[in-house]
Amino acid sequence: MSANHDNSSNCETQREAMVQLQLAARGIDDERVLNAMRRVPRERFLPANMREFAYEDTALPIACDQTISQPWVVASMLNALQLPADARVLDVGTGSGYAAAVLAEMAGRVYSIERVPALAAAASELLRELGYDNVEVIHGDGSVGWPAARPFDGIVVAAGAPAIPEPLKLQLSVGGRLVMPVGSAAMQGLVRLTRIGEDEFEREELGPVRFVPLIGEAGWPGDSHRHN
Ligand code: SAM
Repeated sequence: MSANHDNSSNCETQREAMVQLQLAARGIDDERVLNAMRRVPRERFLPANMREFAYEDTALPIACDQTISQPWVVASMLNALQLPADARVLDVGTGSGYAAAVLAEMAGRVYSIERVPALAAAASELLRELGYDNVEVIHGDGSVGWPAARPFDGIVVAAGAPAIPEPLKLQLSVGGRLVMPVGSAAMQGLVRLTRIGEDEFEREELGPVRFVPLIGEAGWPGDSHRHN
């Protein structure tokens, strides 16, 4: 048996333990989320010196001073989206590309946008290498969404803003849901917004979280909040 085989079966065992103990046991009940997270090799989205921690119950540092979110946080956000079959989804804050890969396993088409050019390029290449051909990654300011690709059945934002950006609300389809952290730079609450009519939205608070800031036209200005 080769060392590579040992490594990948070890990762599969750890991934299954992550799904059982960190996700299902803590209330993640959308089978599509659980199955998607069973399939995506989280270790591939990490820098080499972080791979051994891939299945720990924590956020981890990636390149460019950014982070890959804790598996439970990714799962909670995608669970809350309640995506319809064959959904079109906007992923704001591509980072490593991990959440985009999980979404690609569950949705019809994924549009992912990242403000740091090097991260967008690396994630795009890795997602292609792993065979995810239903994901498009671009470099840009996701606080204003991706107007050309709207409407979206789901929008997930992996960075915190002082308020829900208006352009994102307007890019939801009727019945679509947006999940994102909203609050101060230091602490946010996870919010789910459902577009229940053309001009009608329902807002639910899902609990406290802590994310890096969404920096852009409809988020935080400049680089002053980067290190939270
Ligand atoms: N979803 C990512 C993953 O699976 O690795 C984790 C994302 S990390 C917590 C947040 C990301 O949001 C960072 O890569 C950051 O550069 C990005 N970001 C911050 N402001 C942004 C904006 N206005 N548009 C797009 N991306 C932004």
